[in-house]
Amino acid sequence: MQMEATKVVEFERPQMDSGTSCVANAWAKVPVIPSATEKEALKQRIKQLLREQNAVLVAHYYVDADIQDLAEETGGCVSDSLEMARFGRDHEAKTLVVAGVRFMGETAKILSPEKRILMPDLDATCSLDLGCPADEFAAFCDEHPDRTVVVYANTSAAVKARADWMVTSSIGLDIVADLHAQGKKILWAPDKHLGAYIQKQTGADMLLWQGSCLVHDEFKSVELETLKEEYPNAKVLVHPESPASVVALADVVGSTTQMINAAKEMDAKEFIVATDNGILHKMQMAAPDKHFIVAPTAGNSATCKSCAHCPWMAMNGLVNLAQVLETGANEIHVDSEVGKKATVCIDRMLDFAAKKKANVRPSADLAKEQKLFSGIGPA
Ligand code: SF4
Repeated sequence: MQMEATKVVEFERPQMDSGTSCVANAWAKVPVIPSATEKEALKQRIKQLLREQNAVLVAHYYVDADIQDLAEETGGCVSDSLEMARFGRDHEAKTLVVAGVRFMGETAKILSPEKRILMPDLDATCSLDLGCPADEFAAFCDEHPDRTVVVYANTSAAVKARADWMVTSSIGLDIVADLHAQGKKILWAPDKHLGAYIQKQTGADMLLWQGSCLVHDEFKSVELETLKEEYPNAKVLVHPESPASVVALADVVGSTTQMINAAKEMDAKEFIVATDNGILHKMQMAAPDKHFIVAPTAGNSATCKSCAHCPWMAMNGLVNLAQVLETGANEIHVDSEVGKKATVCIDRMLDFAAKKKANVRPSADLAKEQKLFSGIGPA
């Protein structure tokens, strides 16, 4: 069984020299969906291979529900990119299988250079990564030497190597607030919406790269207002990669982990969710008696490009997951010099998170979890 079909994906490509952006084309493979019988056989095979190879599966919330379940059932991790990085680094397994997009595999390799890092598909990319080429970004940094460079996790190893700090959406706000308190001016890349949100919350002086996530960028405020009228008791959970007009309608703005915890902890029975719809699997498990509705991406004012599901996250399937474990193909390699430089900004974030005792992995035991809403609340 092969993943051969591809589709064209449109994304916003920043043009920082002119301060604009243009629509560019990329491509993504369309996954083959196995039958129910094939699925069961693949799952059993993957479990066996993980055991035989002393490997652990680390999956993002946006990937296929079967892969998320497999990660949990086999002692791996399903989480956001910060916890994926930390879990992979601290786990004793010699092989990490990262189900997500390429920058996540690179981050795992940077943090664990001695480990073998495999990914179901090395072509699974991200519009934020694509829209922030390392050479253009380096030139932008060179133009602003007085600024502390803070990059979002969704960037290549080469971009991270040029940065002072790496952040994820779960900790970016706290880190920028801390830098701002020290009087530092920030150069932020690549997500313009998350950057603008953090700028608004912290008051920091931030110069923003103009990238965006093709999934979050297409949530529409006009249609969201209509949906809120239809579900007047629903609380709105929004990921801050969404446009400001959508964030303005949120009851809670937060990272994927923070959104899941909000769904568990808030009294409401209905939630409208503005992030990749892959998160609904974990959200529904965390709060089985609640009703979740995906925020609108299409309507009178919109065309649906991704339909709330990342085409690159969707490239992670049971078929190619089993194949990489069988063959050892799709290993991630990062140039050692680039890796060493990139480690500095990632370690800074992990040290900062450790000092704050930020536990960002939702568990079944709420009493053991840290409160995750510091700096995040009703928008
Ligand atoms: S959902 Fe958006 S930010 Fe996440 S990998 Fe896909 S394009 Fe990148």
